[in-house]
Amino acid sequence: MANIGLYIELKNGIFKKSNRELLSLARKSGQRVAAVLFCQDVQPYMDELKGIQTVIQVKAADLAYQPDRYARTLAAVIREFNLDVFCGIFSAQGKDLFPRLAAKAKASLVNDCLAVDLENRRAVKPVYSGKLLAEYQVDGGTALFTVRPNVIAVEAAASAQAPEIRTVALDGGDLTTKIVSVQKSASQTIDLTEAEIIVSGGRAMKAKENFAILEDLAKVLNSGVGASRAAVDAGFASSDMQVGQTGKVVNPKLYIACGISGAIQHFVGMKTSKIIVAINKDPEAPIFKKADYGIVGDLFTVVPLLKEEFKKALS
Ligand SMILES: Cc1cc2nc3c(=O)[nH]c(=O)nc-3n(C[C@H](O)[C@H](O)[C@H](O)COP(=O)(O)OP(=O)(O)OC[C@H]3O[C@@H](n4cnc5c(N)ncnc54)[C@H](O)[C@@H]3O)c2cc1C
Repeated sequence: MANIGLYIELKNGIFKKSNRELLSLARKSGQRVAAVLFCQDVQPYMDELKGIQTVIQVKAADLAYQPDRYARTLAAVIREFNLDVFCGIFSAQGKDLFPRLAAKAKASLVNDCLAVDLENRRAVKPVYSGKLLAEYQVDGGTALFTVRPNVIAVEAAASAQAPEIRTVALDGGDLTTKIVSVQKSASQTIDLTEAEIIVSGGRAMKAKENFAILEDLAKVLNSGVGASRAAVDAGFASSDMQVGQTGKVVNPKLYIACGISGAIQHFVGMKTSKIIVAINKDPEAPIFKKADYGIVGDLFTVVPLLKEEFKKALS
């Protein structure tokens, strides 16, 4: 039986939704599972952590995310707890932390996985901007995987058994790279990489103020608001809203593209969305070849109508 470790990501103390996907994947594997949390108190999270064997709490007076310290601590945890496989979320922090961890733990890393077989240390990930799916097998050493949000079905724990709690100290050594400040995005309340619904606007939005109509629809749908690079470059939207090759990779259940042509660089960032709806006034726009549903029309007419219809349907 393999020892599986999970890095449970807490954002300002909040348990990220994608952690539930990691936990579901690990519980289903039938292997021994240990979850690592950097926090002052694990009790608020114990309900989420039911049905696994061990919770490893990393403690220190200051637990602010510093990549060197987190990577060294996790490398030590992997050694001490003999972890064969260690998984995290393919989030902004996961992208920063796991390559460092791979170097410190001398482990192999497969990033941005769409499927992971923990027992056999295999994973499937997109390559060449999503044109191909490659299957990786990690032999020898600890296998590290980061999993793209919204790809694993969340299942409740089959057992209510409370895990054993172990504590380890945060590595307090020197920092070669130090995070001196983190600026919170002013535009987003919903993390696009974890959002279940995203309404995105392109160059056709014409002005920053016009994004208000997308925000109105987003409020009704409880969704995030994204943008194409053309909209970001034109100053209509902030860079953290950009979806695509040089922006965020998103994977919602529903992606509504408003006035976006469907360039490959945008498409690679949202192509795994379960349902794509395109609103475009040009019936020949390439996005219609990729969308599940298309509305040919002026977005300034269609989006407010959609908002009213969704409001009625959802009330
Ligand atoms: C290296 C590189 C990286 C890139 N990375 C990204 C990236 O990460 N993300 C990204 O998005 N792009 C990226 N791009 C840019 C990409 O190639 C496209 O230029 C960009 O996606 C186009 O944005 P758009 O669809 O909003 O604009 P356009 O291509 O100009 O399309 C606007 C669309 O709106 C429609 N339209 C106009 N008025 C209306 C209206 N009133 N109602 C409805 N529809 C209307 C038009 O018919 C048209 O289809 C990258 C490019 C390069 C070279």
